[in-house]
Amino acid sequence: MAVSRSGDWWQGENDDDLAVYVRSFRAGGHDVAETRGLTCPACGSSTFGVMVDDDEGVAVAGCLSCGAQVPVGDSADHIADTDVDLGECACPCGNESFSAVIGYAIGDDGEVRWLSLGLRCQIDGILGVYADWKIDYAPTAHLILPPA
Ligand SMILES: [Zn+2]
Ligand SMILES: [Zn+2]
Repeated sequence: MAVSRSGDWWQGENDDDLAVYVRSFRAGGHDVAETRGLTCPACGSSTFGVMVDDDEGVAVAGCLSCGAQVPVGDSADHIADTDVDLGECACPCGNESFSAVIGYAIGDDGEVRWLSLGLRCQIDGILGVYADWKIDYAPTAHLILPPA
């Protein structure tokens, strides 16, 4: 594992490191059972500019290659809500291009209970969980992306 901490920030060399970080972050205090790297369904790229509303639990990844907008988890269901106020994610270095890993906490009933969105800066590899939110309904199997 090549996750390292220098100064105030965790850094990783690749998306495997980002997945390790998302698991260790334990968003919402829940163990992360599954992680999936995010790739653009239109062109296969994995570099995104990401908009989130961490209060409402909405995130949309904008593919930097083809411009497709990729809702994260159940975000497509909520993006039109009037109280959603998306903000652009920026690394502490100021960069706004990332690769992304989604973490899924899964309850005893097998349903997704919490989602978290980890991002890795394409410039310096700084890792962060930029949004996470509770999932309080079922079924949820459709939320989990197919394995890469
Ligand atoms: Zn694309
Ligand atoms: Zn950065």
